[in-house]
Amino acid sequence: MSDLPWYKDGLRFGCTECGKCCTGSPGFVWVSVEEMHAMAAFLRITFAEFVKRYTRQVGASYSLLEHSKNYDCVFLKNGKCSVYAARPKQCRTFPWWEENLKSPEHWQEAAERCEGINREDAPLISLEEIKQNLD
Ligand code: SF4
Ligand code: SF4
Repeated sequence: MSDLPWYKDGLRFGCTECGKCCTGSPGFVWVSVEEMHAMAAFLRITFAEFVKRYTRQVGASYSLLEHSKNYDCVFLKNGKCSVYAARPKQCRTFPWWEENLKSPEHWQEAAERCEGINREDAPLISLEEIKQNLD
């Protein structure tokens, strides 16, 4: 029997930058200390200011703030990520998360929330590339 995952032939994905994965429901966008430093530098503010203005502490970790009414990430501006070049790993690796890749059904569920998944004209992302994005 093969040890290869069900997506061994690759999966189609191309982000349309619609911004839907940055809003819609309460959640956490985890940021490491390193990422917070990088984002603060990108915004040309101090680390302390970044932490105060844009994050909340959850236990020993930090998550980006979201708007309390529509759950937009604090960095979503006019439907786009305003810190795209410095966005944290959680955002950079979407949709290549274990939970989305568990089965074709999980991948299909993710596709219902993300229009970039399974688009016919989207690039075919190889197994190797997918693996590089998994933790
Ligand atoms: S929902 Fe999908 S297509 Fe839209 S911005 Fe997020 S990753 Fe890109
Ligand atoms: S940091 Fe950018 S990509 Fe990540 S959730 Fe916020 S707006 Fe979306």
